[in-house]
Amino acid sequence: MSYPRRSALAAALAGAALLITSLPASPAAAAPLRTAVAVSAASRTAPAPTPTPTPVAAKPTPPKPPRDPRNIGVLVNKTHPLKPKSYVPKGLVRVNGQRMRAEPAKALTKLMRDAKRSGARIVTVSGYRSYSTQKALFARYTRAYGSAYAARISARPGYSEHQTGLTMDVGAANGACRLGSCFGNTKAGRWVAKNAWKYGYIVRYPKGQEKVTGYTYEPWHLRYVGVKISTAMKKGKIPTLEHYYGQVKRR
Ligand SMILES: [Zn+2]
Repeated sequence: MSYPRRSALAAALAGAALLITSLPASPAAAAPLRTAVAVSAASRTAPAPTPTPTPVAAKPTPPKPPRDPRNIGVLVNKTHPLKPKSYVPKGLVRVNGQRMRAEPAKALTKLMRDAKRSGARIVTVSGYRSYSTQKALFARYTRAYGSAYAARISARPGYSEHQTGLTMDVGAANGACRLGSCFGNTKAGRWVAKNAWKYGYIVRYPKGQEKVTGYTYEPWHLRYVGVKISTAMKKGKIPTLEHYYGQVKRR
């Protein structure tokens, strides 16, 4: 993994990316060389070999992480920027004043309605952010905290899930622990952690996974991946999207 310039930020990002495997070489490079072999008449008529039975306990190969930001399963992290970095999602709608794509907005509206019915009032805090908004935000964090810490709590422009239109930072309606780790202990935070998967959402940066995700615990950052992926992660006890896509090196 190389970065355009060595800086404290680059060093911090490289450190955070240690446990995440780098992208494979191009498929063309990985494909075996095709060799022209003269096939004899005898081998053409030879009986087909008996297929080897598939072992029952074979571990399924993790799905390949989609890179197209229009795909709801897209993987965006410190080693997987948006393609292109200037991507702007189409069809953004508002959920309580915050923008996101229509499909996750519909699911979030249901989530918030059901949460309210069970006594947990959830509000939207920050949804879609453009490349330029993220650029300004990252610069502000860097000025306030220095580049190393800024990289742990915020994404560089072109590397933020908020730019996909699939992400919403949520909060408790009473404002308790807004964008703070203690949100996880509020009624709203607990409800989200327990139920978001039913609506196709995951808590993207769970506690204790900073080395994998590159970010500190963010119980408020909900990422829409669709119910197929969120259910597979819930049932399989898969903690992060990086684990789901087999991006975490086995020890
Ligand atoms: Zn967020």
